[in-house]
Amino acid sequence: MNWISNYVRPKINSLFSRREMPENLWTKCPECGTMLFHREVADNLNVCTNCDHHMAITPRERFEALFDLGAFTEVKVPEPIADPLHFRDQKKYPDRMKSAQKSTGEKEAMLVVEGEVGKTQIVAVGQDFSFMGGSMGMYVGNAILAAAQRAIDLHCPMVLFSAAGGARMQEGILSLMQMPRSTVAVQMLKDAGLPYVVVLTHPTTGGVTASYAMLGDVQIAEPNSLICFAGPRVIEQTIRETLPEGFQRAEYLLDHGMLDRVTHRKKLREELIVILRMMMRLPPPIWGELPPPGPAPSEATPPTDQPAAE
Ligand SMILES: [Zn+2]
Repeated sequence: MNWISNYVRPKINSLFSRREMPENLWTKCPECGTMLFHREVADNLNVCTNCDHHMAITPRERFEALFDLGAFTEVKVPEPIADPLHFRDQKKYPDRMKSAQKSTGEKEAMLVVEGEVGKTQIVAVGQDFSFMGGSMGMYVGNAILAAAQRAIDLHCPMVLFSAAGGARMQEGILSLMQMPRSTVAVQMLKDAGLPYVVVLTHPTTGGVTASYAMLGDVQIAEPNSLICFAGPRVIEQTIRETLPEGFQRAEYLLDHGMLDRVTHRKKLREELIVILRMMMRLPPPIWGELPPPGPAPSEATPPTDQPAAE
């Protein structure tokens, strides 16, 4: 025991823990570096109020702001086998899953819900990048199949919000098998004559871009999202050439015919209502008669499984 462990270390610790508090209240925009008050960011759907940069948003927050009065019901997804390969890197796969579940408060990387958007019934699927990079494993495949089946039962469109780093390597070939499986799910919707709309968000990469995320009847993307199979750094190193500015970003892909629309997050609800009603041959929306969307995430009640602020 000496003054270093008794006096200096607690002092240092208190300095660091004191710094944690403002981090919860303030978010730094990764694009322009502006410090934004958390409430202001949440009210603006996690879009920077200074430079319009679209920051990550969880599927739950997105759905609360998308559905009429913020009301939606979860669609049950069949559970796949846990850890089929007994995979282990620095950590065991089940341990990685547990820590992801704890940090996000979600069960897996995909959330399937049903509800009404502008009085139009839809099934919505949201991929959660904060859950192990939104990686596509067996659960994600099950989720897409369950969502497509539910949309067919309800005879309504399916809207998918993608965000992924690709396949989940901890499930090996089983994760790659979700590419044909999800393609079959999309085909089921097409056979039933139901619209499938994809909203690509930052980033959508890897096997996800090589399957369900690119099969929409309408392909919408959020501004400046990175959408690619292999990332720009990998391509640059392989072909040893400097890539053009904005390469593989939403606007670049729109210019080159890969997308139909690039839509600001705040205009997305309105645009989806128009597109979905048109595709379902419903009369055009009368804006004054539509129920309002749900409250912005900051005003919504926090999910019960998350502990309240201490
Ligand atoms: Zn910004």
